[in-house]
Amino acid sequence: MAKIYTLFQNLRFGVRQRVALTLLVGLLISLTINSWFSIQESARYTNEEINRSGQLISKIISHSIANSVVGYDYHGIQLFIDEATKSDVQYIKVLNAKGNTMAETELANKDLTGLQFFNASINIEDNTVGHLTIGLNTDAIIATIDAQKKSLVIREAAVIVFILLIELLALSILIIRPLSLISVALSQQTNNQGVLPREIELNSQDEFGDIARKFNALRTQLNTAHQALQGKVNVADKKLRMANEKLLRNSQKLEETNRELVNQAVTDPLTGLFNRRKFQSLIKSSIESVEQSNESLSLLVADVDYFKKINDKYGHDVGDKVLQEIAIRLTEGIRKSDIICRIGGEEFAIFCYQAGSQDAYNIAEKLRLLIETTEIKINDNTLKITMSIGIATPGVGAALHCPDCLYRQADIALYSSKSTGRNRVTHFHEVDLDDIEDLDVKLNMDEQHRA
Ligand code: GH3
Ligand code: MG
Ligand code: MG
Repeated sequence: MAKIYTLFQNLRFGVRQRVALTLLVGLLISLTINSWFSIQESARYTNEEINRSGQLISKIISHSIANSVVGYDYHGIQLFIDEATKSDVQYIKVLNAKGNTMAETELANKDLTGLQFFNASINIEDNTVGHLTIGLNTDAIIATIDAQKKSLVIREAAVIVFILLIELLALSILIIRPLSLISVALSQQTNNQGVLPREIELNSQDEFGDIARKFNALRTQLNTAHQALQGKVNVADKKLRMANEKLLRNSQKLEETNRELVNQAVTDPLTGLFNRRKFQSLIKSSIESVEQSNESLSLLVADVDYFKKINDKYGHDVGDKVLQEIAIRLTEGIRKSDIICRIGGEEFAIFCYQAGSQDAYNIAEKLRLLIETTEIKINDNTLKITMSIGIATPGVGAALHCPDCLYRQADIALYSSKSTGRNRVTHFHEVDLDDIEDLDVKLNMDEQHRA
């Protein structure tokens, strides 16, 4: 039920359908009214026709038998009656002027139903010589009239249908076609430039023509306005694109500058190694990751021996070059996984990952030897230098969770290397506790030892 309702709702009931329905209803009404009038008319006409026929026939018969009635020619009258009753006249009664019956049709069963009777005087000139009664069988007349009526109704219906079709055609041309043109034009899509593609091709001097002309004018205005707007949009779009590109370039530059700044912030400008700031963040993050992964880590702190003398002897610039050379050698000497930082004037720190105290010792010894055997040629001078190295390994005499302590313990080990002759490697766990003045470190170490 709901489906049928939806179907009806969606059914298009356009002007064409409305006009057709109106005409159809009109046709039905006219046919009904016409039939009703026809029936009325036909009944009236049938009666008139029967009366007219009856009177005419009575007149003819009375005229025909007038002389026989005057002459009392019973035989002649009878002959005439016999002849006359072969037609629709089925009953004839003839009276003389005195009212006596002269002749009467013998009806087989005396059945007078279905007959209509007409009386007439039988006259010769102005004298009434007798009276006549005839019984007329009206079936044939009614049948003829009915046949005429039927063909008339069919003709009328055909005429009405024909008129209806003509009207439908006329309405289609005069109203429905212009409406369709307008409807199609109004429902058309704009093309890909946003322009309404077609005009309504209707120029009639009526309301439809007016609508079409107004629509076409509006369409032109709309398209002109749209094109003007599109032009502005294109310009704005181009500007926006350019601004966007500029913004992107600036943003890329900014990112680059930012990266450089970040790099600069953690890079030592003389050697290109990580600086002390990076060292401080690395020591924290390294200890944290070591704690989580349970892997070993050792920190090496290396200091050039008697570096001041190089500065004093060859000048600060030479000192710089020596530092650069040392940075290169140390970088080459460490493993790829390790990280080196310059944490002071001639002091370097090296994070050795996955290296216990013995591994760290081996690495430090290798580096110490590398620097010792390196000849640095500057101008005509060949310089030979040495380094002292201190090592601290969390969990090996050094605190596990203390970044500051780890560095200080490595520094103490370095100090120990210095104080015991330089060009040496010392691990913090080798250092004599009594020699340590740094109380925090000492406490941490005590805790470690207790653990
Ligand atoms: P030690 O064996 O005890 O370490 O002796 P040292 O002379 O190396 O120690 P000290 O700390 O007395 O001297 C370090 C010197 O390093 C002092 C400083 O002038 C110099 N120095 C620090 N930074 C730079 C730098 O960037 N360039 C140069 N050329 N020299 C620097
Ligand atoms: Mg030094
Ligand atoms: Mg120093």
